[in-house]
Amino acid sequence: MEKILIVGSGVAGITLHHCMSQYVENVYLMDDFEVPSSTMVAAGMINPITGRKFNLTWKYEELMPVFKEVYGQISATIGLDILSSMTLIREIDTIENENQIFSLGTPFIHSDHNTNPQIEEWFNAGISRVAIEAFRLHTSEMVEKYSRLLKSKGLFLNEKFDFAKLSMIESKLKYKDQNFDRIIFCEGYAVVNNPFFRMLPFQPVKGEVIIAKIPNLTLDVAYKNKLFFIPISPEIFWIGSGYEWSFNDSFPSEKGILELVNKIKSVLKSDFEILETRAAIRPSTKHRKPIIGWHPQYKSIGVVNGLGTKGSMLAPYLAKMMTQSIFGIQEIDEELNVHRFIQ
Ligand SMILES: Cc1cc2nc3c(=O)[nH]c(=O)nc-3n(C[C@H](O)[C@H](O)[C@H](O)COP(=O)(O)OP(=O)(O)OC[C@H]3O[C@@H](n4cnc5c(N)ncnc54)[C@H](O)[C@@H]3O)c2cc1C
Repeated sequence: MEKILIVGSGVAGITLHHCMSQYVENVYLMDDFEVPSSTMVAAGMINPITGRKFNLTWKYEELMPVFKEVYGQISATIGLDILSSMTLIREIDTIENENQIFSLGTPFIHSDHNTNPQIEEWFNAGISRVAIEAFRLHTSEMVEKYSRLLKSKGLFLNEKFDFAKLSMIESKLKYKDQNFDRIIFCEGYAVVNNPFFRMLPFQPVKGEVIIAKIPNLTLDVAYKNKLFFIPISPEIFWIGSGYEWSFNDSFPSEKGILELVNKIKSVLKSDFEILETRAAIRPSTKHRKPIIGWHPQYKSIGVVNGLGTKGSMLAPYLAKMMTQSIFGIQEIDEELNVHRFIQ
């Protein structure tokens, strides 16, 4: 009977564990939770529209049915609805730009004239905004519940993967005293320390976040104006986040938080109270696409990484593709395949 180990229980590792478990009984998940992962800190927004030109994000129409299906199945497994629909209100500079956006005919974008009067009341809003049909993945709840469930089944290894303890005899992998048929690394930015994959073109990006109380403000939409204001409970908002390409650690910094505070003050008309600051490192790549697949020399060692700023929408699609590649149901897309970078 096949035995698989997945290292990393962020959104990449959990969705992969779920997909692999449809075919294989013994799939183990490992994580040491040493520092907050990108998944734990993320807002989990799934926003189909990207960039200043309001284009539909890469493969969105293919990704959407897959993330709805996979998160629906994970919700049923852990007994918690982890995916919610959430309208995202986004500012537009001018009416001309708004007209141009609608002329693109991009689905999932609607006009937002006067449907959210609170926005103008509470924020220094511009003259025009649109409503985007988005989703929110409840990432930290998913990680906590999923890992707890696996612990109860004896399938969760609460430790740091130590490469010195891995040995390979032909295609058989032995980690400490256990044999595995395959090991798949979903380590987020920590991949830069992985001897099998650290040469891949990763470019980690730090992000910082403020969890704030905005007294008397309750929104049922997410709002983007310089920053994302995402309601997590009445009066409590996830506000972020910055992009830092040069950093020494993964913790909130005085400079990063001050930048966020100044941006919040330039947008929000009312006072707010900082309840918590958070930071994490996004596993981004130089070419802004994920990297998945099987090592060309060590064929039972795999990677799912490079989810960048869009882990919530990408992870189920990548997990399904990786799983199906084992059983010959689907091949890994050339554009995503690790073979592009390692021969
Ligand atoms: C501030 C911020 C806001 C974001 N907002 C959004 C958003 O709204 N929507 C969105 O889709 N994405 C968002 N992202 C990006 C998103 O978080 C990532 O794309 C995604 O979470 C990456 O998931 P992952 O599983 O690849 O990596 P991670 O979440 O980093 O998980 C990797 C896991 O591997 C574990 N690990 C690493 N090495 C080892 C080892 N040797 N042994 C054991 N365990 C190990 C780590 O402990 C960690 O738990 C945001 C990111 C940040 C930082």
